[in-house]
Amino acid sequence: MGKVVLGVTVGVAVAVCAVAALVVGRRVRSRKKWKRVVGVLKELEESCETTVGRLRQVVDAMAVEMHAGLASEGGSKLKMLLTFVDNLPSGSEKGIFYALDLGGTNFRVLRVELGGQRSELDPDVEQQPIPEQLMTGRSEDLFDFIASSLHRFVEKGNDSVQSSIMKELGFTFSFPVKQTSVSSGVLIKWTKAFAIKDMVGKEVAGALQQALDRKGLNMRVAVLVNDTVGTLALGHYHDADTVAAVIIGTGTNACYWERTDAIIKCQGLLTTSGGMVVNMEWGNFWSSHLPRTSYDIDLDAESPNPNDQGFEKMISGMYLGDIVRRVILRMSEESDVFGPVSSRLYVPFALRTPAMAAMHEDDSPELTKVAKILEDVLDISGVPLKVRKLVVKICDVVTRRAARLAAAGIVGILKKIGRDGSGGITGGRSRSDIKMRRTAVAVEGSLYTQYTMFREYLHEALHEILGEDIARHVVINVTEDGSGTGAALLAASHSSSGSVDNIQLV
Ligand code: ADP
Ligand code: MG
Repeated sequence: MGKVVLGVTVGVAVAVCAVAALVVGRRVRSRKKWKRVVGVLKELEESCETTVGRLRQVVDAMAVEMHAGLASEGGSKLKMLLTFVDNLPSGSEKGIFYALDLGGTNFRVLRVELGGQRSELDPDVEQQPIPEQLMTGRSEDLFDFIASSLHRFVEKGNDSVQSSIMKELGFTFSFPVKQTSVSSGVLIKWTKAFAIKDMVGKEVAGALQQALDRKGLNMRVAVLVNDTVGTLALGHYHDADTVAAVIIGTGTNACYWERTDAIIKCQGLLTTSGGMVVNMEWGNFWSSHLPRTSYDIDLDAESPNPNDQGFEKMISGMYLGDIVRRVILRMSEESDVFGPVSSRLYVPFALRTPAMAAMHEDDSPELTKVAKILEDVLDISGVPLKVRKLVVKICDVVTRRAARLAAAGIVGILKKIGRDGSGGITGGRSRSDIKMRRTAVAVEGSLYTQYTMFREYLHEALHEILGEDIARHVVINVTEDGSGTGAALLAASHSSSGSVDNIQLV
């Protein structure tokens, strides 16, 4: 009996030891895995580093590339496209102007009544989707559809469709265009969901004008612009110190006011104002100083446009969520902190930027929103709090880098036009010698307006790069719907009575 008892006791003791060994073994393994995950995070943080020193290098590179793009066609990855917009709305514009905004799945028609003296703008706006078949059909059908919508819109308002007074129209067309004047340009290529073959290489405003004429609308396409230019126009209408406009939404781009004598690639360009808006197409900016990670390299390689839009792929709303997805995937593959690897993690763009922003900004003590988004969007459930914190940290690293790079881009523009307090790219004068003028930058796009952390990081970096003394002279103004309203304003400032004839190529 005693033997049996001893045997049982020994048996239990062995079993307890085995379980203890198992638990300790698991703990050691799990600690090792956790360490590996922390290592992945550390590596991400290091490769996303944006010290002020590095940001200043990006600023310099941006200014240098802007110069190169202005010096010769193809001289830089920055296209630095001429817009022929040689004056910006001053606020004194008067009359009724129309605008069409085409650039995404929706298109909008606007009517703005201007009363002079920087009157408040309260445009009538009508928005509707472009039928899918028109995005890939014949250009004539697309423009007839647009003209019909405009016809209906005018009829609904107080203006007569066939009025004897010709109305001026601003056309925002957010696709790459080689402009030949402020109101004409040739489509270089379609992007987004559009693919109308017969339109590539054709005159864009001309195609619209013909459709307006077919409909019997007494209207003239006064300006053909892209959305950044509209934003600059609206920004300038409200604040005459506005020198540049930046869009940070699905994509990112910027334009600014340049002296014509600095546009070397177009020698003999003369405007009455002595300046012209240049559309940078800055999404394609590239510099070896940009902090690039293996995730960026993979994202680019797997994108439909590899080696293209490098800056945009690190900054804009289309991509930030996907960078975060890639980091979580790698952590999940290297450890089991996220449980078994979710198949959703392999789906490109499964994690959209608004969901990522919501996780980043989750301020609940238990990070319940993070848990919910991981579960709903990525099919990852039951992860402990410390792993949820890790996810927030990943979002923070990715967004902070994006916002700080956007800030460096903005300072790059200021540097190019001598508004960063450093005396321009050639330098020379010390900061204290320079009397800094108040400088405004118009910004638009949901990434900036809807994502508080992004906006705060951008502002913080502007202050760090410029220094407080200079930064207090630089203001960021959010404009609303510049792409539409701005085009109507430009139609006003470039109306037939205005400056269309003021640009000469001699
Ligand atoms: P678009 O650039 O298409 O003209 P927006 O300026 O509204 O339009 O930008 C839309 C993009 O902004 C979305 O694709 C998304 O990536 C990003 N975005 C929208 N809302 C948020 C949000 N709450 N937080 C973070 N990003 C957002
Ligand atoms: Mg937009």
